[in-house]
Amino acid sequence: MTVRRILSAKGRDVFTISPECKVSEAVRILFARRLGALVITDESGTVAGIVSERDIVRMIATQGPSSLDEPVSVCMSSNVVTTVESATIQSVMSEMTEGRFRHLPVLDHGKLAGIVSIGDVVKHRLAEMEDEQQALREYIATA
Ligand code: AMP
Repeated sequence: MTVRRILSAKGRDVFTISPECKVSEAVRILFARRLGALVITDESGTVAGIVSERDIVRMIATQGPSSLDEPVSVCMSSNVVTTVESATIQSVMSEMTEGRFRHLPVLDHGKLAGIVSIGDVVKHRLAEMEDEQQALREYIATA
């Protein structure tokens, strides 16, 4: 199973914000959209960073609640690991495990084409395992 299959099922919309957007606005969007992370893009639409709930919790814990007025660029991760639609779920699971993050933006010719979360991966992997078990049960029943 590939990233393309996940995106076909969940859609390709990605909520993006600019690096100048305040952290408080990012918090509002994360809550309103029930998201765990937002991708930060520059004027040309290029991915400039990613900010997750963890970054914001860490910032408030270390710098206090007044940091909510800072631009999101102060707490985002700038070296964003991305994937492509042809990547397998196994490779996505490896990237997430090695990088210790739960979100992977998908690029198509350098442009943002979707995002995959660990929740999406687990959901599709479970469905895949159930299909495999069903196929095995049917094979055993007819053998
Ligand atoms: P997460 O587990 O996705 O909430 O993120 C944990 C940490 O990894 C946070 O500091 C994020 O900014 C960072 N992070 C999340 N996704 C990525 C990614 N695809 N590439 C690089 N860093 C990431």
